[in-house]
Amino acid sequence: MEIKEVKASAYLFLGSIGPAFESTTLGVGDKLALKAIAMAYGVSEEEVKKRYSKTGDLGDVAFELNRGEGKSLTIDEVFGKLKEIKKASGKGSQEEKTRLISRILQRASPGEGKYIVRIILGKLRLGFEDQFLLEAFSIAFTGDKKYTAKIKESYSVCTDIGELAESLAEYGPRALGRFSIKLGRPVRSMLAQRVKTFEELQERIPGKKAAEEKYDGERVQIHKDGNEIKAFSRRLENITAQYPDLVEAVRKGILADKIVLDGEIVAYVEGRKADGSTGEFYSFQRLMQRRRKYEVQKYTEICPVTVFFFDILYLEGNSLLRESYPKRRDLLEEHVKESENLRLARRIVTDNLEEIEYFFNDALEKRLEGIIIKSMGSNSIYEAGKRSWLWLKWKEEYAGGMRETFDLVIIGKYYGRGKRKGSFGALLCAILNEEKQRFETFTKVGTGFTEADAKEIDSLLSGHTISEAPKNVFIKSRMLPDIFLEPSVVIEVLGTEITKSPGHTAGQGEGDTGLALRFPRFLRIRYDKGPYDITTVKEVRNLKKGTSI
Ligand code: AMP
Repeated sequence: MEIKEVKASAYLFLGSIGPAFESTTLGVGDKLALKAIAMAYGVSEEEVKKRYSKTGDLGDVAFELNRGEGKSLTIDEVFGKLKEIKKASGKGSQEEKTRLISRILQRASPGEGKYIVRIILGKLRLGFEDQFLLEAFSIAFTGDKKYTAKIKESYSVCTDIGELAESLAEYGPRALGRFSIKLGRPVRSMLAQRVKTFEELQERIPGKKAAEEKYDGERVQIHKDGNEIKAFSRRLENITAQYPDLVEAVRKGILADKIVLDGEIVAYVEGRKADGSTGEFYSFQRLMQRRRKYEVQKYTEICPVTVFFFDILYLEGNSLLRESYPKRRDLLEEHVKESENLRLARRIVTDNLEEIEYFFNDALEKRLEGIIIKSMGSNSIYEAGKRSWLWLKWKEEYAGGMRETFDLVIIGKYYGRGKRKGSFGALLCAILNEEKQRFETFTKVGTGFTEADAKEIDSLLSGHTISEAPKNVFIKSRMLPDIFLEPSVVIEVLGTEITKSPGHTAGQGEGDTGLALRFPRFLRIRYDKGPYDITTVKEVRNLKKGTSI
């Protein structure tokens, strides 16, 4: 095969005339194909229909009717004609398509005609996918199967199977590793690994790391080339037409001329609500209303969306795939002008697992599904198409799986920041050690409160401030709150995991570590309970035994 035919063949093998991310349907249905076959072979449409109902495959019908008068076609010819068929549009296009199909069928051999019909109808069914073709490329263009894995890697960056095949045919293995991101050609998305325990986040990515909110919507890669803006899905489909509102927002808010951004489209409504929260995330199901061909404009109002950008892959002619995440994030912040529909993924940077735990709780509070931890190392490149250990996901359901509620007494306050300035940021809470008749610290609760809850708690606590920890409270120095409180107010808290903790004292023996409640969330104030009616160390020990931790 000549090199110039390799590209077309790669598409044709997959029953297509272009890369997956371009619209390649020819706009030909059964009815039109049937007409074209009748015209090509000089038989009635009735005759074609009759045969079709027997075989169920118009390709087979074309094969039967072909009298073998056509001479062999070249790949180039077929490919060119298929493109012409696709191009015909507007008034009279149905007739034009019929004529073009019938002409090429007249010139085809029976076998050729059969496959041409199937390709035109988008029903080639050779029984293999693109991944299989990559192995064939390895054998055909390098003489060895051993390059398959490398070719697969390249295919994550050069997702146009025709271009990939052409380069391999021309340069052999030397083509590998030379592919780069190009405007208009989406790369496969980088994905996150999952970990089994919260601590594993620290083991896998020690030291400083970023924790980003994990949005539950549709992955999107946006390519802006001057005035032309395209959006691609995780499966590399072109989804631009579904999101005219985002295209507009990108036009206004992204000032770079040539840029590729990675993010998540979410059904999200901006705005401050009565309880002080700033916006609302809706479910993934709701977003799916936007998967439509018709009434697109109307649905931009019924289901407004926001894109949360978390990466930048290309800027003004330069690939950023091999730059580190901190560098990419800096560039991202520099080039995204935030607006109602365009946001940056919210994140914190820290080496402290406890801070990440708070951030995670906050995310759940907003009804997000979890967080993604990202490496800040100098090797933190964008690994296209890979489930990478440079990104780790942590979702609510990965936590202990226990969903128990606990009645806890408040023994201290930490000052609040931001939204909760003037009130508390978190409450230090304890359980009761019945044997020792003292309160032992168990968790710091910082999420789950509405503004009204916080106000009510502040007023309940106002008469109970004391200058140091009372004798019946067992606390370690690293947990000291900003304000000590007499144990009096009881709250109900939801938690998902009990772990050993060096900071807390619950159930702690001599030199031992205590137990702590992980991922706590405030549920309500227990006006009906006093400090000696709360959850005890014994109960917590029993619960822990019953879990797998
Ligand atoms: P999963 O689908 O559970 O494997 O999670 C990975 C997906 O989370 C990605 O494909 C993204 O679509 C999505 N995601 C949401 N927020 C982020 C973020 N901040 N960083 C990376 N991926 C994110």
